[in-house]
Amino acid sequence: MQGLFQDEPQQTAARVLLDGFNDMVLDYAIPAGMAPVMRGSRVEVPLRNRSTTGTVITLTQPDAQWGDRLKPLSRLIDDTPAVSEKLMDLAEWASRYYAVPVEQLIRCIVPEPVRRERHEEKTRKVVVLTQWPGDDELNKINARAPRQAAILRYLHNSDTKREPLADLGGSPALAPCRALEKRGLVRIEDEAVHRDPAGNETFAPSQPLQLNEEQERALQAISAACDKGDTKPIVLQGVTGSGKTEVYLQAAAHVLKQGRGVLILVPEISLTPQTMARFKSRFAESDTQVAILHSAMSDGERFDEWHAIHRGQARIAIGPRSALFAPVQKLGLIIVDEEHDASYKQENAPRYHGRDLAVLRAHLEGASIVLGSATPSLESLYNVQIGKYNMLRMDRRADGQRLPLTRVLDMRTEAKDKRNLGILSERLRMAIEERLKKGEQTILLLNRRGFARALQCPDCGHVVSCEHCSLPLTYHATENRLICHICGYRAAVPRKCPECGSANILLEGYGTQKVEKVLRNCFPSARLQRVDADVAARKNALRDILADFRAHRIDILLGTQMISKGLDFPGVTLVGVLNADIGLSMPDPRAAERTFQLLTQVAGRAGRGDIDGEVIVQTYTPHAAAIQYARRHDTDGFAETELELRRELEFPPYTHIAVLTVRSPKEDLADFSINTLYKRLLQVLPQQVFISEPMPAPIAKAYGQFRYQCTLKSQSARAIADAVSREIRQLNAGEDVIFTLDIDAYSFM
Ligand code: ADP
Ligand code: ZN
Ligand code: ZN
Repeated sequence: MQGLFQDEPQQTAARVLLDGFNDMVLDYAIPAGMAPVMRGSRVEVPLRNRSTTGTVITLTQPDAQWGDRLKPLSRLIDDTPAVSEKLMDLAEWASRYYAVPVEQLIRCIVPEPVRRERHEEKTRKVVVLTQWPGDDELNKINARAPRQAAILRYLHNSDTKREPLADLGGSPALAPCRALEKRGLVRIEDEAVHRDPAGNETFAPSQPLQLNEEQERALQAISAACDKGDTKPIVLQGVTGSGKTEVYLQAAAHVLKQGRGVLILVPEISLTPQTMARFKSRFAESDTQVAILHSAMSDGERFDEWHAIHRGQARIAIGPRSALFAPVQKLGLIIVDEEHDASYKQENAPRYHGRDLAVLRAHLEGASIVLGSATPSLESLYNVQIGKYNMLRMDRRADGQRLPLTRVLDMRTEAKDKRNLGILSERLRMAIEERLKKGEQTILLLNRRGFARALQCPDCGHVVSCEHCSLPLTYHATENRLICHICGYRAAVPRKCPECGSANILLEGYGTQKVEKVLRNCFPSARLQRVDADVAARKNALRDILADFRAHRIDILLGTQMISKGLDFPGVTLVGVLNADIGLSMPDPRAAERTFQLLTQVAGRAGRGDIDGEVIVQTYTPHAAAIQYARRHDTDGFAETELELRRELEFPPYTHIAVLTVRSPKEDLADFSINTLYKRLLQVLPQQVFISEPMPAPIAKAYGQFRYQCTLKSQSARAIADAVSREIRQLNAGEDVIFTLDIDAYSFM
């Protein structure tokens, strides 16, 4: 038997993903005598005449004929691999599921600043008093070398007996310190300086709140799961203001006590200083470091935070989507806050879903996972229904406040009011004026996801939809046709509304700037601030605006979706939604769900203080299920209705939908390539996979490239991924043609 194993070839080569060279992977020999090289190790390697760094993705057997010619690794950078065995498994699984090279996932796990060598940790010099010479001796030193004596005295008076060189006079003080070091009185050390993204802010420690009954029950259930190492996901459905964050904080404390780590994922935009401060404050007095990972941080900060987590120094990591790959040690609990949020889906390669990969990571690591939201995704609710996930509920606001009253305004009748200002109905205008008089604050939401290219009738609210999918058709100017982006159905553009015969039917849309103008004319003395992608692109602009709003230096905040999430403003008593329908007319199977979530979330912003809040929703389709259920804060009712519809239409979560897109600077090439691929796919796709005919993408041209797409639908995502990626490889379409496959697509543009 033993002989067999002796013949087993040794793993003598490492396949290395090189840093900085677009997904270049090369094999290197592992030199004898090098410390064990593992999957996930960081290594230095020769490349042509230079040297570069990379990550080992697998250990392999060199090819017999190449084996001798492989260049050897030059150095193992760290003894502990940068990517753990579990994260490697996660990367490999995701690579297969999303049909992307594993290299793209490794790049997410070892982020850019960590890959780049020049962000070595910064150090500073610190001088430590090792022996106090006594007063007599000090006087003697003072006579000869007064600066040395001054340094000794200063260190002697310091509580810690150690001070940074900078405080002792900077580099001019280095020579006298060296002299003291020679006499054995002090020691000079290099100390790593941690670049903390929270800068010099200090966080006042906060104490755990006395939980109410619902919170206590939720905490007990989560703690019990953590104790057992139960990885079955827990959906925490709690209305806005029910105190979910307090539950997260206490659950995190519980897990830390067991010596395990916690990962907290939040939507991109809600990683406000407010969220960060709540976690920093709660753990301010413990020796646990809370690490923040955020794309807005400097490279140096990201480098330091990543290493603090990797070393196990920081045991809580907080960040958006990509933080799911954070190297938290001994992971015990993952929390995905606002788990329904669309920002968890990455919209460029690799197109993974952060929540879904978090669930998988919890499973691989034996960690528990909580998916929290006031309006859980239908995917998660469905998983509760079929028993894959557990559910906890918190139905009451922690501060005892009532949920705000929501009024739905039918803009079809409002439009007949001559005082009407188009986008701003007279009733909403009066409500704003009343708040201004009382010195209360207003949030106005302009719903604008991408751009609406659907046809809607302003007289009856009718939206022209697909006969087969009941989703709005999208207008294509190039063909002057309406196309369904799920099934490919095409229709002519009607001259009159098919419902009421009105000739007013048109493509309509308002921008925030246009609305801002209307509001300024209407309320000339109000302090009004617009927040949209343009404004938010400026560094710290969003943070400053939100701080001003909280301090009541702004009366009316006008913004897009980004102001609807996780923000807590006690002074707001009125929330107005200017155009609730726009989201509904998107060619997207989740359009109704998103509208429901948006309206419910934004309503949660009203009336958090002592005064009851009011919500006014302007809409052309007042009877739409999403709007009516949101008005009643009825998440269960909405989920039931919508799931039934999705089942009938074979939409997610009952199926997986993928979008196959081709881009090319040459239109005929894009068209030809997608048609060729489509014909091949028709031949090879399993029976149960549906594929639509090719069509121009809703955004038919972007960045000088023409875009065409097909939509695929199947019970099995793997069936789509495997067949499509194989055919794309075999098609070998050339450099001018780029195919992308978006599994579990959230965007159909
Ligand atoms: P959610 O995250 O569910 O929207 P938050 O955690 O932001 O809710 O809590 C809403 C408000 O209620 C916060 O101001 C919070 O400090 C307060 N709160 C939470 N739990 C309690 C509690 N047990 N007792 C008193 N106030 C609480
Ligand atoms: Zn009509
Ligand atoms: Zn259709």
